[in-house]
Amino acid sequence: MKILRSGSQPVKAGPAEYFTGEVTMEMEFAAETPARIGGLTVTFAPGARTAWHSHPLGQTVFVTEGEGWAQLDGEPRQVIRPGDIVWFPPNRRHWHGATATSAMTHLAIAESLDGSRVTWEDHVSDADYLGG
Ligand code: MN
Repeated sequence: MKILRSGSQPVKAGPAEYFTGEVTMEMEFAAETPARIGGLTVTFAPGARTAWHSHPLGQTVFVTEGEGWAQLDGEPRQVIRPGDIVWFPPNRRHWHGATATSAMTHLAIAESLDGSRVTWEDHVSDADYLGG
């Protein structure tokens, strides 16, 4: 058994290449082969969000604090709240983040395919972010 102890990893800023606004990432983990599961806890300040992206085997997000927005490309933006468990299907372009006025924290978990859990695309414009 391995225990990744609380607070044992530095809190990192979300790279501007992949996020808009103030984002912190912590407690990142990845299981050992042959398991594929991995993830991290991400906190988005109000207005912050991921860029558009997709996951080769999908992603499950557990909202733990605050209030956020999430959107699959081509579908309406939706509010996500603590206790909500969100599933993003494989290879579906989407984004997730805080609302414009509330921070949001989630635990994001995905399986890797050929060593990758995510494919990043362009940033979410203010119009897309606010437009719902
Ligand atoms: Mn995602």
